Amino acid sequence: MVRFCPIVSGSSGNSTYIGTEYTHILIDAGVSGKKIQDGLNAINIECGALDGIFVTHEHIDHIKGVGILSRRFDLPVYATEGTWEAMAGSLGDISRKNRKIIYGGEKLELNDIYIKPFEIPHDAAEPVGFSVFAGDFKVTVATDIGHASECVKENIADSDVLLLEANHDIEMLKRGSYPYNLKQRILGDYGHMANINAGRLLAEIMSARIKHVFLGHLSAENNTPEIAYRSVEQVMFDNNIKVGKDINIQLARRNFPSQCLNF
Ligand SMILES: [Zn+2]
Ligand SMILES: [Zn+2]
Repeated sequence: MVRFCPIVSGSSGNSTYIGTEYTHILIDAGVSGKKIQDGLNAINIECGALDGIFVTHEHIDHIKGVGILSRRFDLPVYATEGTWEAMAGSLGDISRKNRKIIYGGEKLELNDIYIKPFEIPHDAAEPVGFSVFAGDFKVTVATDIGHASECVKENIADSDVLLLEANHDIEMLKRGSYPYNLKQRILGDYGHMANINAGRLLAEIMSARIKHVFLGHLSAENNTPEIAYRSVEQVMFDNNIKVGKDINIQLARRNFPSQCLNF
C-alpha cells in the first residue's frame, strides 16, 4: 500500500508525505517543525517514524522546518550537492551522518521504495522534483517548474498520482502588485508554472495511468483555488479529457493536510 498526502502546499510553504507500511518520507518541510508535526499527526504519522526528508531546493518555502525536524527526530536529509551548499546558512547544524547527497536522474533505494530525483528548471542552485516508486506504483512531486522541460515531462509521465504546480493566473500576476522584476522572474523559464501551462502539460502527458492530480504551490496573491481548477479543467475539456472520469483533479490545501490517497 502507498499513501500520498500533501501536508501543506503553496507559496507559503510545502511538504508532502509519501509512505508505505515500512517506509515514511517527506518531500520538503517548508513550514515550521511544529506545523509539520501537527499535519503528520492529523494523518496518524509520528515524526519519529520518518525515514528521511527529501529536499527539492533551498528556497525557504521548502526548507523552513528541515533543520529542526532533522535535529529533533534524528532524521536524514537528502539533497543535491548544489542544494546543500545553497541551504547551508539556513538549516543550522545537521549531523554528518544525516547529510545525504543525491544526484539528479539517479534512483535511490530506501527499504521498500525507490526515490528518483529529476532536474527541474527553476531559479535555484540545483533543484529537483521527485518520483517515488513503490511496488507497481509511481507518485511524483513536481512544483517550482518554470517550464515543461523534456526532463520534467519524461519523469512525470506514467505517474499514478501527481502533485503538479499551478502557481499563478498569468493575467492576475501581470495586473497584480508585484514589482516588475519579480513578475518577470515568476513568468520566466526558471520561475513558476502558470495554471494554463500546468493544464497544457497535463494534457500532453495524459495517459491511462494518471488517475489523480493535486494542483499545488498556488500563489496567495496571483491565484485562487477556483481559478486554478477552472483553468486546468478548461484545458482538459479542450483536449477531450473528462475530469472526474479520465482523471481526478483536486487542489492541494495551503495550510492543512489534503485528502490522503491510499492505493
Ligand atoms: Zn522555489
Ligand atoms: Zn516554492
